Amino acid sequence: MSIPVLKFGGTSVGSPERMEEVARLIDDGQTKIVVLSAVSGTTNKLLDLGETIRVQQIESASIKLNALREEYRAFVETLLAGSHLIEQGYSICKSIFDEMERLLWVNSFAAGHEKWILAQGELISTKLFQLYLETLSMRSVLLPALNFMRIDEHDEPDLEWIGERLQQELAPYNKQHGVYFITQGYICRNAQGEVDNLKRGGSDYSATLIGAALKSSEIQIWTDIDGIHNNDPRVVQNTRPIRQVSYREAAELAYFGAKILHPTCVIPAEERQVPIRLKNTFKPKEHGTLISEESSGLAVTAIAAKDGITAIRIQSGRMLHAYGFLRRVFEVFERHRTPIDMITTSEVSVSLTIDQSSQLKQIVAELEKFSEVNVDRDQSIICIVGDLLAEHTEVTRHIFEALENVPLRMVSYGGSQNNISLLVARDQRDTALRSLHQHLFTKPTAGDALLMA
Ligand code: ADP
Ligand code: ASP
Ligand code: MG
Repeated sequence: MSIPVLKFGGTSVGSPERMEEVARLIDDGQTKIVVLSAVSGTTNKLLDLGETIRVQQIESASIKLNALREEYRAFVETLLAGSHLIEQGYSICKSIFDEMERLLWVNSFAAGHEKWILAQGELISTKLFQLYLETLSMRSVLLPALNFMRIDEHDEPDLEWIGERLQQELAPYNKQHGVYFITQGYICRNAQGEVDNLKRGGSDYSATLIGAALKSSEIQIWTDIDGIHNNDPRVVQNTRPIRQVSYREAAELAYFGAKILHPTCVIPAEERQVPIRLKNTFKPKEHGTLISEESSGLAVTAIAAKDGITAIRIQSGRMLHAYGFLRRVFEVFERHRTPIDMITTSEVSVSLTIDQSSQLKQIVAELEKFSEVNVDRDQSIICIVGDLLAEHTEVTRHIFEALENVPLRMVSYGGSQNNISLLVARDQRDTALRSLHQHLFTKPTAGDALLMA
């Protein structure tokens, strides 16, 4: 079944007016699956609420909960103004917030309760949106993500299972045309069947998993910007949208910090060859970015940065002329289920980076049994993505010129044909991004001539 999937992020459903716009955007009479995030800001508030309950600050939690109740009451009042369904809107919110309120008083408030709270953002937004579509007489069906979205014991989505369950959910409507299926992004069940989530920004991942599982014609991700820009627009001025990128390039940019996409959301789309189109809900006519087999054709496509990186240098005299040393090192990380992002080696030492530091203490203790270990926290990876970087020797020259005054902790080059990664201290990150942008995208000498492959 080749149903397109359209995902709308937090800002795209961030107010009643934005939801009305989403209804207009999807209303072309064609069956589609619409994946929604929580209203922007809600997930942060729910996260905060859960933490407040966990530390037993019940009074403060109660104030926060009531503020959210009020916020949603006002939301419903505007979204469903004048409709006979308004009472239904109020009662959707009431039952969710009443249930949350009960959690203020449970004796053993657990991680599972916090995850349940987090899931309510997407549950409210989808229920309210679907009700709104009813007021417009748009034929819509709520597909509960908790019935089909599942991660396994390693927190990996189970694509086969997701596909089978989705087909079952859709089967009753097989012969109907023009049905808008509305479902929640972000939320899922885990291997124990509990309510869980696909990590922050996970609605993108929900959309690509659904699109891949159903082998959709296209996955559209609608957000508040006109596609992937060539640098982080929150840090650098005069960034530009990229018209097309390959799955590989997009996957690298997402993984290495381009916030517009969830870090691993490109993988299922690439696996099943379903193109992803990024679009701007504020400017729907703009081209946006198409992610498919076709690369950008540019020597340098884009730059991204990922924070919160820990660098570990492992030195050992025994590494000299020894084999098996790297295996021992990697086994330590494998035992602690900690992925390594960057790696560089010399004859006597190896430096690598991780972004999950929950097991750091144990990892260092094990490494210290056979080597000397130095740890640098609060680093950032800067990732430069492009096509056939190696053939463009001037690219590397411009990179090093741009970073003349930025101390580089690590450089990783040649691991793939389309990625150069650099490690800098977090407080050097913005300077590095801006200077690289200037040298790679705006300098007359390094300008468009350099950009064309
Ligand atoms: P949504 O709520 O729709 O999922 P996000 O806030 O997660 O939206 O992602 C969109 C934001 O990503 C943009 O507003 C922009 O500030 C940020 N961003 C960071 N890097 C990039 C990039 N390279 N291209 C485009 N946007 C980026
Ligand atoms: N609401 C979730 C978050 O804020 C998921 C998403 O928006 O993609 O992280
Ligand atoms: Mg997002």
